[in-house]
Amino acid sequence: MKRLFSLLLAGAMSLTLAACAPAESQNANPGTETKPVAEAPSGSETSGDGNFVGVLMPTQSSQRWIQDGDNMKKQLEAKGYQVDLQYAEDVVENQVSQLENMVTKGVNVLVVASIDGEALTGVIGKAADAGIKIIAYDRLIRGSEHITYYATFDNFKVGVQQGSYIVDKLGLAEGKGPFNIELFGGSPDDNNAYFFYDGAMSVLQPYIDKGQLVVKSGQTGMDKVSTLRWDGATAQARMDNILSANYSDGSRVDAILSPYDGISIGILSSVKAVGYGSGNQAIPIVTGQDAEVPSVKSIIAGEQAQTVFKDTRTLAERTVEMVDAVLQGKEATVNDTTTYDNGVKVVPSFLCDPVSVDVNNYKEILIDSGYYTEDQLK
Ligand code: BGC
Repeated sequence: MKRLFSLLLAGAMSLTLAACAPAESQNANPGTETKPVAEAPSGSETSGDGNFVGVLMPTQSSQRWIQDGDNMKKQLEAKGYQVDLQYAEDVVENQVSQLENMVTKGVNVLVVASIDGEALTGVIGKAADAGIKIIAYDRLIRGSEHITYYATFDNFKVGVQQGSYIVDKLGLAEGKGPFNIELFGGSPDDNNAYFFYDGAMSVLQPYIDKGQLVVKSGQTGMDKVSTLRWDGATAQARMDNILSANYSDGSRVDAILSPYDGISIGILSSVKAVGYGSGNQAIPIVTGQDAEVPSVKSIIAGEQAQTVFKDTRTLAERTVEMVDAVLQGKEATVNDTTTYDNGVKVVPSFLCDPVSVDVNNYKEILIDSGYYTEDQLK
């Protein structure tokens, strides 16, 4: 009976989710609490009711994934699912063994935000052999035919928003320049990183070609600009090297393309250490992604210029709808059936909408929507 009610509720809720609009449910998790690395499933280890969902998240070192995990757990439990939520702390082997354990525990569906999109093919195959349905969460799992759905954001658009912010702020469309820019990419084992970079370069490259933007280090292309595991310290060290090798002659870096807030924070530390942000040395325009609390605070303080907000409540809603669909043998709503080729198949996807945020709209986008409270950003 409880299950029937859940299913009816599921159907009713999925009808209200026709658009990827902000959810009514609120989650203002500051992401500052610490949690055990692995959380045991609530209730018994195996369900037997066909309603046991394994949720695998990459790391708790970044606030966004804590919010993703919390939202998924909360929304699934509200519909009567039993949830096993695990974080792998960016260690691929952890994630593989967590996934294997979930297969043993008898989950019915796996929702996986991978660390390395190429590393799970084998274990996903084992899960599929056990009759488990697999949904890729935010990051595409490559090389497997067993991915039923992919819920994510419009990743190319994220990059376009970052690149366009730099174009606007430097007045490039009005012909201004030349300006110096340096480029950072995300983790090379994350499919999304290429979409972000390509999206950004789709708007920046024409200005590089015209000479209005100059990459003084000469480092372009994901093979040169990527940042393994999205690590802020790695980015900071690379920025230190770029500054000392290319900007010790008194020239200035005017903008830095950063794909993720944790990387932006590392870049900002590096530029501030050589005097940007003091005296008459303005801080370069630094972009970002995820609207994590430290970066929103940095934006309010006039340091980081921009971030891209991805509402994890909405992504969780979309994914929960996919969970409902695979368990009921129905089709989930998708809005993209061409973009995400994982090397074996094009995975039917739902792309949520990212929003560019800066000091002028953060209140409306982040506080008025209930994502953060004003106090969290103080
Ligand atoms: C996500 C981004 C995030 C990055 C680092 C990407 O896969 O899409 O939102 O900034 O990983 O965690």
